[in-house]
Amino acid sequence: MSPSPKPLIADRFAAFGTTIFAEMTALANQHRAVNLSQGFPDFDGPDLGKNAAAKAIADGHNQYAPLHGVQVLREAIAGWASRVSGIDCDPDREITVTSGCTEAIAATMLGLLNPGDEVVVFEPYYDSYRACLAMADATPRFVTMHPTPEGFAYHPEELRAAFGPKTRAVLINTPHNPTGAVLSVAQLDEIAALCKEHNAIAISDEVYERLTYDDRTHISIATRPGMRERTIVLSSSGKSFSLTGWKIGWAIAPEPLTRGIRMAHQFLTFDVATPLQHGIAALLTDGEPEIEKLRAHYTHTRSLLAEALQELGFELALPQGSYFILADHTPVSQRLGLKTDVDLCRWLPEHAGVAAIPPSAFYHDPSDGAALVRFAFCKRTKTIDEAIKRLRTALT
Ligand code: GLN
Repeated sequence: MSPSPKPLIADRFAAFGTTIFAEMTALANQHRAVNLSQGFPDFDGPDLGKNAAAKAIADGHNQYAPLHGVQVLREAIAGWASRVSGIDCDPDREITVTSGCTEAIAATMLGLLNPGDEVVVFEPYYDSYRACLAMADATPRFVTMHPTPEGFAYHPEELRAAFGPKTRAVLINTPHNPTGAVLSVAQLDEIAALCKEHNAIAISDEVYERLTYDDRTHISIATRPGMRERTIVLSSSGKSFSLTGWKIGWAIAPEPLTRGIRMAHQFLTFDVATPLQHGIAALLTDGEPEIEKLRAHYTHTRSLLAEALQELGFELALPQGSYFILADHTPVSQRLGLKTDVDLCRWLPEHAGVAAIPPSAFYHDPSDGAALVRFAFCKRTKTIDEAIKRLRTALT
């Protein structure tokens, strides 16, 4: 008898399953549910970008790009960062184009962290953060964002306690997925002070930088005093231009940090689709009117969905940014005889025809997310209306 096969998945992934996004989208499709789970628009990105990418293909931009990205895109990113965030950077030495922000996160962690380094991570967190830290053999130190009437926020004393002699980095995400919180200047300065005190770097995921609402504006921690030289700004074009499938992201960092990021990036993907880089360059340069339209649309779908959810018994604060609503489902689940977020998110597609994300996947202790549910509002008005109609029928 031959010996039984060895486990095929490496130990470092033992704690992880299939990402919740793929799982819930599959469940949504199975039940033909309105998919408010995985965050992607159900409408197309601007013609300006699509035409520029098509032209790049026709013009023969079809071979490998330089490993750090095509010149025209890096220049467009530098222009965008300066205009949007007030970050001035050198497109040759400080920008690396990656396969979406997800690869930028991986390249940053693999390129800059050593085994045993500690990284302060806010939770709920985007699921890849934790997996990338595991790949880098680094140790997360979690700081929980707690619900308040105005939205989710960390407790300063818990943040301070998470920093220590082994802290190498803090990983922030503003505007934040899934809570919709936008860090204030005071919070950024609090985080910045701890970075400086502990000689740590800031890894700042800013993919929702253009999706802020009401009077909230996005501020990058890189622009706070003394932070530019110790910050890596990560972003992408997927959210700002509704092209999540193009996977064009980037890392902006001072040259000594960029060296580590590029070291990892060259062996992870080496390169990103050349013609799509040209498409995104056009959007970053001339796509501002598209963003204004998008922001107006999301302001509308945010209110529509938030009001309907509240009317149905969900408890929530309006998100200040991103395209997600994180709500407490307890009053609704109690009526249905359900307990956790996972129970509810398995029930919803089948019985209500709507899919959502169970946020316990974003906590190191899943019970911390058990009372919550995440809905995406990056959809056509018609889609949100249909979801609301279905929720009303099933929940009242
Ligand atoms: N960022 C998106 C979300 O939070 C999805 C990312 C993914 O599917 N990996 O829904």
